[in-house]
Amino acid sequence: MASVELRDVRKAYGALEVIHGVSLSIADGEFIALVGPSGCGKSTLLRMIAGLEDISHGEVAIGGTVVNALTPRERNIAMVFQSYALYPHMTVAENMGFNLKLSGVPKPEIRTRVAEAARMLALEELLERKPSQLSGGQRQRVAMGRAIVRDPAVFLFDEPLSNLDAKLRVAMRTEIKTLHQKVATTSVYVTHDQIEAMTLADRIVVLNGGRIEQVGTPLDLYRMPANLFVAGFIGSPA
Ligand code: ADP
Ligand code: MG
Repeated sequence: MASVELRDVRKAYGALEVIHGVSLSIADGEFIALVGPSGCGKSTLLRMIAGLEDISHGEVAIGGTVVNALTPRERNIAMVFQSYALYPHMTVAENMGFNLKLSGVPKPEIRTRVAEAARMLALEELLERKPSQLSGGQRQRVAMGRAIVRDPAVFLFDEPLSNLDAKLRVAMRTEIKTLHQKVATTSVYVTHDQIEAMTLADRIVVLNGGRIEQVGTPLDLYRMPANLFVAGFIGSPA
């Protein structure tokens, strides 16, 4: 568990700056939804928190420690993407335990942690299957399981449900909410789905063109959108 602090974070690709000084304090255990139109910089910002992208300017701190120079592994974050990126030749259990194995966690402990994550995500019956023998929703649960077993300080989600059909998306949304209530891990959840943001988040961050337009609770943003962009995006009457 950890707070996440962004201090005047900027990202430039060559001469082109795409994130223009983002500052944000995320409390320990908070669930933040990061929303905004395609190309506004959501993934870039998430990848800078994760350590998958260099930070051009400013600082990212996790649990009070500046992590700019740390590798993704050293940051103790777990990222869940829309493409599940499961290893096709490994079983569900092996997929879930793979990162732990790489980190040198002893086998019995891997087994225990995988079993616990499988229980949380109702994957117990599926542990010996290969990814090809799973439905889309089950694969996404395995991808989440793989993140959970590492007991990360922070969860980062990049549109994890966008490949699923509407019905499954609703079911998975509930599951993510329940999971967060159980583990209370600080989460940053990128989505372009307003309903997902409204139902999941403690606070929503609206990003536009690499800048924050507004930060607030779902109710704040709905009742008092800072401008027409936020109102349009959240779908509030203002
Ligand atoms: P989002 O996730 O909100 O759709 P991205 O973070 O993927 O947006 O992209 C933000 C901006 O940065 C876009 O204009 C995109 O074209 C640009 N961008 C992303 N990655 C690169 C890159 N590797 N090189 C140059 N520009 C990039
Ligand atoms: Mg993106």
